[in-house]
Amino acid sequence: MSKETILKWFKENKQTYTKMAQDIWDNPQIAYEEKYASELQQNALKEQGFTVKNQIGGVETAFIAEFGQGKPIIGILGEFDALPGLSQTATPIKEEVTVGAPGHGCGHNLLGTAGVEAVVALKEKMERDGLRGTIRYYGCPAEEVLNGKTHMAKAGVFDDLDSALTWHPMSKNAPMSFSMQSMVSIKFHFKGKPAHAAASPEAGRSALDSVELMNIGVNYLREHVPDGTRMHYTITDGGLAPNIVPESATVWYFLRGSSKEEVEGILHRVKNIAKGAALMNETEVESELLAFCYETLPNDALNELMYHNMLDSEPLQYTEEEQIFVENLAKSLPSAGKPMEELLPTSISFEPYQPGVSMPGSSDVGDVSWITPTGAVTTTCAPVGTALHSWQATASFGTEIGYKGMHLAASTMALSAYDLIINKDNILEKAKEEFDKLRDGKEYQAGI
Ligand SMILES: [Zn+2]
Repeated sequence: MSKETILKWFKENKQTYTKMAQDIWDNPQIAYEEKYASELQQNALKEQGFTVKNQIGGVETAFIAEFGQGKPIIGILGEFDALPGLSQTATPIKEEVTVGAPGHGCGHNLLGTAGVEAVVALKEKMERDGLRGTIRYYGCPAEEVLNGKTHMAKAGVFDDLDSALTWHPMSKNAPMSFSMQSMVSIKFHFKGKPAHAAASPEAGRSALDSVELMNIGVNYLREHVPDGTRMHYTITDGGLAPNIVPESATVWYFLRGSSKEEVEGILHRVKNIAKGAALMNETEVESELLAFCYETLPNDALNELMYHNMLDSEPLQYTEEEQIFVENLAKSLPSAGKPMEELLPTSISFEPYQPGVSMPGSSDVGDVSWITPTGAVTTTCAPVGTALHSWQATASFGTEIGYKGMHLAASTMALSAYDLIINKDNILEKAKEEFDKLRDGKEYQAGI
């Protein structure tokens, strides 16, 4: 069995990567500030003989580590940014490490590290067998603001890939047989005229009024958008004090839909509402486009391959102590009281993608999935009922529950990347054929 050497490598080396994931969890940094994790991973890969290129697309923390020669070229996508305000100890009660500090509530400490683990495992195998082909680890920053990979895509770094593989920590062991929504992140800055709000209100033009009028307009739009559309906003600038008519105000919108084209249509209407709001009370408006990622295109051929390799990997098993942690953490979750096998699934499942099935949520992996066939899985890294971006998620992703899920994902990606390197059963052609069919002749064009 040719894959046994890879599985053996995992048994002997996984502790190194538990340490790396723990280290990144201990040093969380938000989007575009992830220097700690980026440097840690770059150095580890250099030590393993990978060639590292950094500052990809002008982004300081973006890098690519490569090993091997010639075709095929297989990419593994990693992420490492944390979320603001989600600091939490690795305990089952809500308790910040540092009040107000960031935390790994989306498990990107695991996400990136599994990728590093996978490419190093595969490198050893390629060296041993003298295999031709290239493997790359993509250190992708700023997934949480949905544009790190878009900047990298604009630099063309995914263009020569034959396939890409990735994963995300969740509470299930299965391929991601669903599409994640396309999403635009955009700010509307209104500018009015300041005045004393009591002495001369008639002289003022309130930028905050325009923001409120705009939000009312968008809330009326809700009835007239496709099902599944998501429109959410926060007011990031609402003026300085009630007794000064606000000269400036800003509202920040996320708009999501099942495809980029659909979101473009919604965005067009929202921009008109902003213009209408400004006209109503004589202010001015400017928009600032921050991110616009594609919906993800699932790939059944790659997902099924990953499913079989997940089955071939070392199965998940938990100690008594880990189960007690999960039981205690679940006390604050909707899944409280469920039996352990339902709280912490070890089983592995696969269902083919049903076009039109879209998950409310977005990822800049969408952009890569429009450039090259992309396979993705999730593994159990937190108890069922844990919401990503919550303190319970941060807690779980800093324990053995998270690390065990991470090793399962790493092993799945290493074994699958091996099959892609040797092009087992013409898997590359099958994945490409499916990719072309789903893309339906449309070319990738970066949204920002
Ligand atoms: Zn995430």
